[in-house]
Amino acid sequence: MRKPSASAADLPSRDASSLSANHLAASEVLARVFGYESFRGDQHAIVEHVINGGDALVLMPTGGGKSLCYQVPALVRPGTGIVISPLIALMQDQVDALTELGVRAAFLNSTQDWQDTKDVEQAFLNGELDLLYVAPERLLTERCTQLLERGNIALFAIDEAHCVSQWGHDFRPEYLGLSVLHERWPNVPRIALTATATDVTRREIASRLSLDDAQHFVASFDRPNIRYNIVEKQDVRKQLLQLLRQEHKGDAGIIYCLSRNKVDDTAEFLCAQGIEALPYHAGLGTQVRAHNQSRFLREDGIVMVATIAFGMGIDKPDVRFVAHIDMPKSIEGYYQETGRAGRDGLPATAWLAYGLQDVVQQRRMIDESAGDDAFRRRLAAQLDAMLALCEAIACRRQRLLQYFGQRIAPCGNCDNCLQPPVAWDGTVAAQKMLSAIYRLMKERGQRYGAGHLIDILRGKSTPRVLENEHQKLTVFGVGLDLTEQAWRSVLRQLLAHGLLVVDQEGYGTLALTEESRTVLKGERTLMLRREAERSAKATTPKSKAALPDLPSGAQRIFEALRQWRSEIARSHGVPAYVIFHDATLREIAMARPDSLEDLGHLNGVGVKKLESYGESILTCIAECAER
Ligand code: ADP
Ligand code: ZN
Repeated sequence: MRKPSASAADLPSRDASSLSANHLAASEVLARVFGYESFRGDQHAIVEHVINGGDALVLMPTGGGKSLCYQVPALVRPGTGIVISPLIALMQDQVDALTELGVRAAFLNSTQDWQDTKDVEQAFLNGELDLLYVAPERLLTERCTQLLERGNIALFAIDEAHCVSQWGHDFRPEYLGLSVLHERWPNVPRIALTATATDVTRREIASRLSLDDAQHFVASFDRPNIRYNIVEKQDVRKQLLQLLRQEHKGDAGIIYCLSRNKVDDTAEFLCAQGIEALPYHAGLGTQVRAHNQSRFLREDGIVMVATIAFGMGIDKPDVRFVAHIDMPKSIEGYYQETGRAGRDGLPATAWLAYGLQDVVQQRRMIDESAGDDAFRRRLAAQLDAMLALCEAIACRRQRLLQYFGQRIAPCGNCDNCLQPPVAWDGTVAAQKMLSAIYRLMKERGQRYGAGHLIDILRGKSTPRVLENEHQKLTVFGVGLDLTEQAWRSVLRQLLAHGLLVVDQEGYGTLALTEESRTVLKGERTLMLRREAERSAKATTPKSKAALPDLPSGAQRIFEALRQWRSEIARSHGVPAYVIFHDATLREIAMARPDSLEDLGHLNGVGVKKLESYGESILTCIAECAER
């Protein structure tokens, strides 16, 4: 569909008779307000369903386009769309972005003073708001419910709906109270949205939010523009620097670490290397966190080093890489975190470095964690799935999506597809290792780690070996054919295949499983993944996940437009992408429109933005042409 052309004459006025009162059809709202030509995937079906008053449960990957699913119906239906979101720190930016589009939006949360609160409440009662963002704890107060009862509500959108899941990593107790919405406003449609996708979570959301009659919309979770790359951890700082310098120079990105200390150390290290890196974790003061987050959103090319406390709801579209330097605890979490890369649809990288130590350490953390056995078993199963992903020989994306119950062909855009790992018959190596462990297990009360085990296999007479007379074991020195690194890889793969466990009672020692016997008895062949010889090769797939270059003329215009955008963004006090996305600027630079009408046809240029910025963009392009 061609967008209706926009001219100043059919601009929505900013008074009370504006957008929502006009009852524009969904596609018209999409084109005029958001500047998009067509809906993506399920968006259209979802939007129509909600406009017609139906409840919906929407599962879409990060960057899939959830916001439009409630923003468009809120503009089409009479009344205000109430958006419930736990992310107070992002509400201001969300409201600013909508305001730039000419949408009348506001928020109610604890950061506001009395007068602001009263103004927003009044605007809502006067029917002057299209969208109102509310924190869940605020919504559940008597004052707020009474306010909502006096106004006109278009819909309730429950964002980050997985926060209602007690098993999940983002549980927010306030979310449990949201089932009252249905009781108090049975006729207002509710749409719950999340990027967390397993069946268990989905069922939990539906039942806890009383979404019994809701239609479920499960989108494809594939994010084809993200290149997955999982490497063996060797010298992780060196590997990280290589990634940042060779593949993502000057790019914005996120680096996830497991501990606060590691966040601080890594950020400091990167700064010393001349990379603009900022730390983010729950141990930093609120102000520091807010400041760092704001710099990440507003400035170009900042690297955020963070624990998983960072990132939910961050809709910065041009995050070019997400790097994990510790193994994540679950595929679910990992997929959400990596999904923060490349929301603009342009090429992006998800990079993960992991090692045996990660597995052992996390297993220990699970064993020591509070909670009952069932809870710990669940954590352990999640970790196992993550490990299996790391050790996979076939397409990473296939395996990731399989975890969410979706099937695809090999993707062609992950390390395993681009540089298929060599598989080798590891049966004999596995037998050697398993029998060494079997012998060590007999020595009750002793604790031997992976290092000692490998020393025995490689016949090293270390003090520890001699002290325990392990040079007398029949397995001593049987493993000289493999390097220490190769043995570590075998060990990890045995863990990943469930042929070994990190023993709970033994506190981090290794133990055999029922399955191990089949290998020891020679009843099965075990194909293993061969690690690339050199770390350098292992970290860099053939081609990097870079943006395609623009032709030189267009590149000049693009640079000029970015310059222009950053000035506007600074003077409005908003992140640059709130003015226009890179993807839109690239499109403008390629098309070189010379009239408002042509400009208005480009994807990402809505009526309000055309009115605000059209002339100055045309001037910018014209000046570029003269030079
Ligand atoms: P989510 O909330 O699901 O993570 P967003 O709603 O932030 O994703 O959308 C991701 C990006 O895709 C945003 O930059 C948004 O502007 C863009 N987008 C969403 N829907 C469309 C569409 N129909 N056409 C073009 N761009 C879209
Ligand atoms: Zn692949």
